[in-house]
Amino acid sequence: MTEKKKSDATKKLEETLLYRPKPVWDKIDENQRKELFSLADDYRTFLGAAKTERLAVRDIIRRAREHGFVDAASGEKTAKKLFMVGGNKAAALAVIGKKKPADGISLIVSHIDSPRLDLKQRPLYEDIELALLKTHYYGGIKKYNWVSRPLALHGVVITASGAEVEISIGEDPGDPVFTVSDLLIHLAGKAQMDKKIQDAIPAEKLNILCGSIPFEDAEITERVKLAVLSRLHDTYGIIEEDLISAELEAVPAGMPRDVGFDRSMIGGYGQDDRISAFTSLRAALDAKNPARSFVVLFMDKEEIGSEGVTGARGNLIEEVISELLDRTEDSRTVDDMLRAFSRSVCLSADVNGALDPDYQEVHEAKNAARLGYGICVTKFTGSRGKAMASDASAELVGRVRKLFNDNNVIWQHGELGKVDEGGGGTIAKDIAERGIEVIDCGPVLLDMHSPFEISSKADLYMAYRGFRVFLEKGA
Ligand code: MN
Ligand code: MN
Repeated sequence: MTEKKKSDATKKLEETLLYRPKPVWDKIDENQRKELFSLADDYRTFLGAAKTERLAVRDIIRRAREHGFVDAASGEKTAKKLFMVGGNKAAALAVIGKKKPADGISLIVSHIDSPRLDLKQRPLYEDIELALLKTHYYGGIKKYNWVSRPLALHGVVITASGAEVEISIGEDPGDPVFTVSDLLIHLAGKAQMDKKIQDAIPAEKLNILCGSIPFEDAEITERVKLAVLSRLHDTYGIIEEDLISAELEAVPAGMPRDVGFDRSMIGGYGQDDRISAFTSLRAALDAKNPARSFVVLFMDKEEIGSEGVTGARGNLIEEVISELLDRTEDSRTVDDMLRAFSRSVCLSADVNGALDPDYQEVHEAKNAARLGYGICVTKFTGSRGKAMASDASAELVGRVRKLFNDNNVIWQHGELGKVDEGGGGTIAKDIAERGIEVIDCGPVLLDMHSPFEISSKADLYMAYRGFRVFLEKGA
C-alpha cells in the first residue's frame, strides 16, 4: 500500500468512526441562511412583545388565531386546531392529526416565565422624599444584574370592584422607565466591595425608584408617595389597597437586539425560555399534515419549580388531552388518559447553558453544548449524582437522534456544567411523573438568567426545524 492510499483510508475511517460536530453555519445553503435570518427577525419581535408570561400568552393566542386555531371552549366541535388558556399565564395549542390522540400524542412543553423582580403586595413607600417600590425577586438571579439599568413595569391590578386594570410602562421610547439605583463606587468599599458577591446587594435593597415630586400641600407627611398614588389614581383609577390584588413585574426595558458585526446572535431578556416557546410555537403554526395528534404547551412558574395551577404540575396538560380524547369520540376515563400518556412522547423544550468562552472551567468541554452547533439534546439535567433529573432513556435519545439526522436537523448534545459544579432542572420530571416519555431539547444560551441573554440565530433556526419535524412525524 502506498503512503497516499494509507492516508486516504485512514481519513475515510476517521470520517466513519469519529463523532465530529460542525457549526450550523458550515452546513446550511444560501436559502436556509435567508430563512434563518428571517425567522430571527420574527423572534426578536416576539421576544420584545412577550416580556412577561401574560404578554407571551397574548401573543401566542393572537398568532394561533391568525393561523386558524379556535378556542377549545367555543362551540366549534369539529375544529381540528384548538387553543386553551390557563389563568391568562399558560397556554396550549393542539392539532388533531391523522392518528387519534388515544394512540399517543407528540408533546412539546416550554415555559414562558422568566426571572424578574415582582413588586411586593404593599410596594409603595417614601424615604428621604423619594418614592420607591419594594420588590421580591422571582427565579434565580444574580442581584448585581438588576441594579443601574432601565426597568419596565408590566402586569395587572384588580380593583376593589373586581375590574382588571392593565399596566405596561417603559417599553415605548417615549415612556418613563424605573430603576434600582446602586451605591456609588466612592463609598462602596465596606458596604459592598469587601463582601462576597451574593451578599453585596441584599434582596431588600432591590427597591425601585419611582418618583420624587412632592404633593403640593406641605402640611401632610409622605407627600411624594401621595403624589405618586394621586397620579396612579388619575391614570388607572387605582388606590393603594388595589396593589395587594396585583401582579406587577419589573423587567429589563427595551427591545432585543442583534449581536455581533455579523448579526449572528440575539441579545435580550427572557430567552430562557421564550426562545423555546417561540420556536415550538412557530413549529406548531407551520406544521403540515401531522401523523400523530400534537399538543404544544407554554407553561408558567418553571423558574420557581413549576408550582401552582399555571405551572407544569397543574393540570392544563390533562385538560387539553382530555378535550382531544373527547373530540375524537374516544372515552376519557382516567384509564384512557393514562393509556394515551403512556403512548405519548414529549420534548421538554428548554434552554441549556452554552460553553462560556471566559469560564470554560465550569464546563467539561467534550460534553458541553456550544453556541451555533444546533438544537441541543440534553439526556439529563439535575445536580450532583443526577439528583432531581429526568434521565431520558437511550431508546428515546436514539429515536430523537434518528429523527433529526433523517431530516437534516443539525443537533448537538449537552450537559449542564461539569459534574459537581452546580446544576439545575426543567419541567421534564413533571412530565415524566405522568408516565409520558420525555427528553430535554432546545437551544443553548450564554449568560442564561441575566437581563441580556445571548442566543445564536443558527440554534434558533435548528430548534424550529427540530420541533417542526417532531410535530409532523413524531419520535
Ligand atoms: Mn428554562
Ligand atoms: Mn431558567
